[in-house]
Amino acid sequence: MTLGPTTRFAPSPNGRLHLGHAYSALINWDLALKSGGKFLLRMEDIDSGRSRPEFEDGIFEDLKWLGIDWEEPVRRQSEHLDDYQRALDRLSELGVLYPCFCTRKDILAEVGQSKSAPHGPFGAIYPGLCRNLTDAERHQRLAGGDHHAIRLDVEKALTIVAAKSPSPITWQENHNEAQVTLFCDLSPLGDVVLARKDIPTSYHLAVTIDDHLQGISLVVRGQDLFVATNIHRLLQALLNLDTPHYWHHKLIEGPTGEKLSKRKHAPTLQSLRADGVTPEDVRQMLGLDSLYATTY
Ligand SMILES: [Zn+2]
Repeated sequence: MTLGPTTRFAPSPNGRLHLGHAYSALINWDLALKSGGKFLLRMEDIDSGRSRPEFEDGIFEDLKWLGIDWEEPVRRQSEHLDDYQRALDRLSELGVLYPCFCTRKDILAEVGQSKSAPHGPFGAIYPGLCRNLTDAERHQRLAGGDHHAIRLDVEKALTIVAAKSPSPITWQENHNEAQVTLFCDLSPLGDVVLARKDIPTSYHLAVTIDDHLQGISLVVRGQDLFVATNIHRLLQALLNLDTPHYWHHKLIEGPTGEKLSKRKHAPTLQSLRADGVTPEDVRQMLGLDSLYATTY
């Protein structure tokens, strides 16, 4: 018997969960459960300034209320910085990293000067200022202790991957009842940050390494991360990591069509519960039953 997928729900403990989180968590849970797979929980808590233990407790409470149960131990990204450092070291050996000394202001100033500056889904695409530094300039700034992030030189990375295998980088997207093969397009993101100035990782690096180390075979997450998957696939190809399948689900919108977010004070599961909403009501509100009827 083939076991079902290993899925994961990976919130950041920087606020309470809302319906958008419930949607993602429940799909991951249902898919794992109905096919004898595994459901894992991961805390994406590298942002130490915003992550709080009480929010982590809140996530446990909300998931239990929804009827979700996970394997222990929960993986906390903040406890695995050495895994990310090792990946950075390997990428550095491949010669695909470079230090970026820019401040946000530097980048905006540079992008602002060029009217045709391309913008990606996460804002202005990095214009490559530090990619063009000479070795001498780079060494001088590093020796001077200048704060820096570490970026992936996407073009170099693509050259290395192409030398390993002539086939284009793709991924399997679960789409309705079929899987479709999608071809990676790295142009919308530019040279992304793989290590921030304060920690030896970034969202893109940590999530890719974690999915591999946790044996995740199906990544179910919001459509807002669709573009990021291009980078995650490139990192998997560079580092010879396992490749999960993906399902980017629709985003749950508020009453006026806006994306639910902590920042915009979407009603939390905690407040819905206090208003007498039940977990069954949540499933109904999210249209989960009809979702499976049409897609699985
Ligand atoms: Zn820079």
